[in-house]
Amino acid sequence: MMRPIAKPDLDARTVFDTCTAGASPKTVRTSLQALKDTVANAATEYDAAATARALHTFGKFKDQPDGVPKKTGGINKQLKNTYTSRMVHKRSAGRTFYDQLLKEAPDGRCALCGQGIADTLDHQLPKTHYPLLAVAPANLVPACRDCNYYKGEEAPTSAEKQTLHPYYDSEVHDHTWLVARVAGPPKPSLVFHAAPPPEMAPLLAARVRHHFTTLKLARLYNPQAGPELRNLSRSLPRLPANMIPEHLRERAEDWAASEGVNSWQAALYRGLAGSPWYTGGGYEEPWK
Ligand SMILES: [Zn+2]
Repeated sequence: MMRPIAKPDLDARTVFDTCTAGASPKTVRTSLQALKDTVANAATEYDAAATARALHTFGKFKDQPDGVPKKTGGINKQLKNTYTSRMVHKRSAGRTFYDQLLKEAPDGRCALCGQGIADTLDHQLPKTHYPLLAVAPANLVPACRDCNYYKGEEAPTSAEKQTLHPYYDSEVHDHTWLVARVAGPPKPSLVFHAAPPPEMAPLLAARVRHHFTTLKLARLYNPQAGPELRNLSRSLPRLPANMIPEHLRERAEDWAASEGVNSWQAALYRGLAGSPWYTGGGYEEPWK
């Protein structure tokens, strides 16, 4: 699930300045460099809005400075190019910043799903709509291609429709909300859900559900269960039957301590430990 990362220790103005200092032709460079204050200001306001969990209120920066959505040409296009040509491009001036942000991916994995390989940066607010944030470090999150694709170019339209932000929303793991329900008999399988508990703040709970649905995380986590279940069908029969629920609970606690309470592994073992059918022999079913 979403993996918290410390907010990047990179100054938005310095990053933008470095990326654009060598832009060509000179007319483009001059117009980009003239935007340094505007870009720095947008990054400061972004930080305040993200801290307040209110990136949906960032509307005044939408389509700025051109003021026109998806305009071809114009300075907005150059701002977006600043990301692709002046930061992502291997030999570009900003590539070291790109690499620095990407290497913060936990275990090299996507910060949005915790599972896919992080091989890109996702714009938390899409650069299509927020060109001023195209290279703002706090808006760039190490992510996998799937999450980047599913998140797409959508900007949040309400507080509830903000996906979780790895730099700002670590509190979301103060509660356990990833649940795996055991399906069976005849054959065990697991279906993952986002099920925030009633004591969780309603806004965070809504965002958890939105994040889970938008990134199609059930599709990603459900198939992880297969190898675990096959492995358990071999190891569990070696234990005394009355020890099995406790054994699975301990595995759930170990995963929660090492990977987080909302890791799919912790959810999977919680789900199995809580299923009387599974612990009572369901673990053997598919192999008989
Ligand atoms: Zn991902």
